Amino acid sequence: MNNDKKLGVALAGLGYYATEQLAAALQQTAHCCLAAIVTGTPSKIPYWKEQYNIAEADIYSYENFDAIKDNPEVDVVYVVLPPSMHKEYTIRAAKAGKHVFCEKPMAMSVAECEAMIKACKDNKVNLAIGYRCQHDPNTQAYQRFAKEQTFGKIRMVTCGAGYFDARTNHWKQIKALGGGVMYDMGVYALQGARLATGEEPIAVTAQHFTTRPEIYKEVDETTLFQLQFPSGAVATCQTSFGIQMNYLQVNCEKGWFRLDPFSAYSGNKGSSSAGAIDFPLKSQQAKQLDDDAQALLQGQSLLVPGEEGLRDIRVVEAIYQSAKSGKVVKI
Ligand code: NAD
Repeated sequence: MNNDKKLGVALAGLGYYATEQLAAALQQTAHCCLAAIVTGTPSKIPYWKEQYNIAEADIYSYENFDAIKDNPEVDVVYVVLPPSMHKEYTIRAAKAGKHVFCEKPMAMSVAECEAMIKACKDNKVNLAIGYRCQHDPNTQAYQRFAKEQTFGKIRMVTCGAGYFDARTNHWKQIKALGGGVMYDMGVYALQGARLATGEEPIAVTAQHFTTRPEIYKEVDETTLFQLQFPSGAVATCQTSFGIQMNYLQVNCEKGWFRLDPFSAYSGNKGSSSAGAIDFPLKSQQAKQLDDDAQALLQGQSLLVPGEEGLRDIRVVEAIYQSAKSGKVVKI
């Protein structure tokens, strides 16, 4: 690959996020193009052909997906499937010799994440996780506050990520497909705490709640979790499929900062004891795609590699363990 080339991206899974966000964002990128689609639903194909001029040869099903290895137009497979399928499609894409962008949550367990990282290494391809917020200058601003101790030592993080999901039978409510709010929205609150402290948690406690037990029979609707960090900083986080919330509040020795929203697609902004935090961004997803494409085209490391997805899943596993046992889980 050279610097003049645009990276050809194949979208695997044509649901809400691929259709409404990523496909549109790809049109706004400088360094990517939509090269192929992978779908199990033939009725979706005419829309994509018409809207994005996708040729028949660039359309794959889940059955013939592995043939993508012979398609020189495809450099990257972007896995936008339910989380239970992330491991399989990341590994199949890696074996086809394609770089992989995989949506969050990376996978269902530490073991799955490790297998994905290994498959990409073995096949000499790169793996990025779709943590769009890490490409947002507002997130990067608060990561800097932690690093430079702008407000002194970080002492307490309070973070909430949730929305009301009216659906009753979506994969988000089905355990076997990777449902559960801690996997889905919880990783945003966890990222808020990890990035705002710049540290990895060493112990967690957690509790599950639901107001709709008839829907949330097998997965969590609302999860509260508390994190302890090596420096002594603590975080108290909330995530829910029943409560609208999107904020990050960080209290430090000598000041504070707050973003509300902190993990929206656009309009993340906030304030601090030293003034406003507001770095407007046109398209977070386009920035993510371009940052990752440039890194690949220039042979540099990716901003959010598989190892970062794994760090979260290690904590998510501990959170589920603690909610089940009612005990502190050390990491
Ligand atoms: P969705 O339900 O809208 O789409 C899922 C797609 O997978 C559909 O096209 C569906 O047909 C397909 N699919 C294939 N096999 C399936 C099966 N066995 N069961 C169910 N669906 C199957 O979901 P989505 O909201 O587009 O989420 C897809 C991925 O993108 C998830 O990992 C999700 O966490 C992630 N996502 C990320 C963001 C973000 O901001 N980064 C936002 C939304 C979703």
